[in-house]
Amino acid sequence: MSTHPLLADLNERQQQAVSATDGHMLVLAGAGSGKTRVLVHRIAWLIQERQYSPFSILAVTFTNKAAAEMRGRVEQLVGSSVRGMWIGTFHGLAHRLLRAHYMDVGLPQNFQIIDSDDQQRLIKRLIKSLNLDDKRWPAKQAQWYINGKKDEGLRPQHIETYDPTEQTLKEIYTLYQESCDRAGLVDFAELLLRAHELLRNNRIVREHYQNRFRHILVDEFQDTNSIQYAWIRLLAGSQNSVTIVGDDDQSIYGWRGAKVENIHQFLSDFEGSETIRLEQNYRSTSTILRAANSVISNNSGRLGKDLWTDGNDGEPISLYAGFNEMDEARYIVARIEEWRDQGGSLQDSAILYRSNAQSRILEEALLHARVPYRIYGGLRFFDRQEIKDALAYLRILGNRDDDAAIERVINTPTRGIGNRTMDMIRQAAREREESLWQAAKYMVNEKQLAGRARNAVGSFLDFIESLDDETEEFSLGRLSDEVIKKSGLMAMYEAEKGEKAETRVENLKELVTACENFTLDDAEEDMTPLNAFLAHASLEAGEEQADEYQDAVQLMTLHSAKGLEFPLVFMTGVEEGLFPSQQSMDEPGRLEEERRLCYVGMTRAMEKLVLTYAEQRRIYGQELFHKVSRFISEIPADTLHQVRLQTKVENPNSYGRFNNAASHESFEQTGYSLGQRVRHPKFGEGTVLNYEGTGPQSRIQINFDNVGSKWLVVAYARLDPV
Ligand code: ATP
Ligand code: MG
Repeated sequence: MSTHPLLADLNERQQQAVSATDGHMLVLAGAGSGKTRVLVHRIAWLIQERQYSPFSILAVTFTNKAAAEMRGRVEQLVGSSVRGMWIGTFHGLAHRLLRAHYMDVGLPQNFQIIDSDDQQRLIKRLIKSLNLDDKRWPAKQAQWYINGKKDEGLRPQHIETYDPTEQTLKEIYTLYQESCDRAGLVDFAELLLRAHELLRNNRIVREHYQNRFRHILVDEFQDTNSIQYAWIRLLAGSQNSVTIVGDDDQSIYGWRGAKVENIHQFLSDFEGSETIRLEQNYRSTSTILRAANSVISNNSGRLGKDLWTDGNDGEPISLYAGFNEMDEARYIVARIEEWRDQGGSLQDSAILYRSNAQSRILEEALLHARVPYRIYGGLRFFDRQEIKDALAYLRILGNRDDDAAIERVINTPTRGIGNRTMDMIRQAAREREESLWQAAKYMVNEKQLAGRARNAVGSFLDFIESLDDETEEFSLGRLSDEVIKKSGLMAMYEAEKGEKAETRVENLKELVTACENFTLDDAEEDMTPLNAFLAHASLEAGEEQADEYQDAVQLMTLHSAKGLEFPLVFMTGVEEGLFPSQQSMDEPGRLEEERRLCYVGMTRAMEKLVLTYAEQRRIYGQELFHKVSRFISEIPADTLHQVRLQTKVENPNSYGRFNNAASHESFEQTGYSLGQRVRHPKFGEGTVLNYEGTGPQSRIQINFDNVGSKWLVVAYARLDPV
């Protein structure tokens, strides 16, 4: 019997799923078992074999990029355009519905979407306008409340409460909604809620779409929330077929309200639904798969799936213990260069990290080695808003006439210097042909500004001057720390407290680390450290990100790697306190979510998986000594290959720069090497981490097993190699 071309490269279970007749179906299967592939082939099958018009198909994916890829694959399979098929993310599809029916939902035609940051700022303003104390009523809390209610489908009028706290939150919600409606603004949760209300309340619209979408298919179903689920139910009505694919072990958005229980709910709500389990993994070597299966088996309450492969063993998983994050980054870059030299393409390699702040040091190492890279779903470190804000202050300290820097932060954080005042200063600067700083000074001294504005501008000028005086003797690290704090930037981002704002705070702290570790190289002896650092930062930011078609290493968080695959994968920072994250360690539920994230990360690798960690890490402006992650101990020892510390290291003392041969030689003269194990008569055994200075003054940093890190003068340390 000859197989249909659409079924040709599928296994029996996959064929069964692809060619199933109408009706509901759950495909429950582990990573890399072909769930997404089944979805693509099923769509093609419906169009080609079952003669469904693309018009009658609705497919939901997790990212816009995944949607574009899926559309492309389907077109390739059916050999024609599938225009008319709706495919996108829940938010994208909801947006589309609202655009088509803006009048029915009471929105202006040009309604705008606001992101989580905009939303928080708006809420903050409203809390103030209600004369509420914003310490007692943080915007973040109100935001959580509002979005949580929207996710449950509740409007203020549906909330009945006698609890005084909730009554106030309800009042904020009410005011917020009125204000959004007046301005034609729609937040993310509102997109879903409003689209849901449209379908629920408007019979004509509902029936139109129910009659249209005969087949609804959802990828990554384990990460849907309540309102998304309710949406699918409404669209499905009583006659349409719903196919969902998912993996409970890959549910990683619980912290955002995703409900893995929706899988059970589906089975009871969608009658007669067929469950298909796929058990063969086509993505990874058996070594990688065995390791990932072993890690996830430590979670409880799993739906339970077997996953096997008939692929070969492949190479063992490498585990590299860097003595610090620089060493970790250097090792990764060396491995990538090796991969490239052996004919591998950069595109095929991905570096995954738990926290965004980890990217800086990796980016720097890649830039230094001239290896093109791309950050997937994010900005590069020095391009990020908060980093640019902080750098603007530093730039002003270095050069008062830096107009762009003044424009950026003269009123960030807000200090009452409005647009009108700025316009006057700009005009004066133009007329007098001087910088904004000079013009502002003139206008303050000559009383050219009205009282309030004059005070505001005057105190900004004074603030910069006094900051400059105070910090004259400071090291670059201390200077940046002072600037971030005194300018109010840190407080501003700390007060915002959104998910994004938390990342911003981490990034600011990471900037301090970058400054602390920065050293001038020989060619820069004539520059001040501040100017050299600023030059370095703007060069990095200005450096073009690899464009879409250039061969480049992919950098991304573990969360955004979901659904993707790469021949070579680095999973970095595999340390207790970072991964699993500190906050998750005392909560079993969250720890299990971290473990699922680990499972997601490991199963992205097709041929080679490299795990790395750092014994010492400077991150978020702190020096941390982490133990290797518990997840490593959950990997069978026979699949792991420990890479030994490289004793031959380029200048370890220079975090910001990757080569500095002179100081390296001077360190070698001490007779110790980085990563070397030594014994001290009093402190016991430890590992050499760092050193500074030359000659009799040189000091060495050792992380002692029992007493932690210490700096010792080499000449007196009485260290014995072990
Ligand atoms: P994840 O859970 O990570 O999203 P998935 O279950 O969606 O994974 P896919 O991405 O669809 O898995 O498939 C993983 C890889 O295996 C892809 O490269 C896919 O092309 C390949 N693959 C799937 N099924 C087969 C098959 N029957 N024969 C050959 N290759 C296959
Ligand atoms: Mg998939």
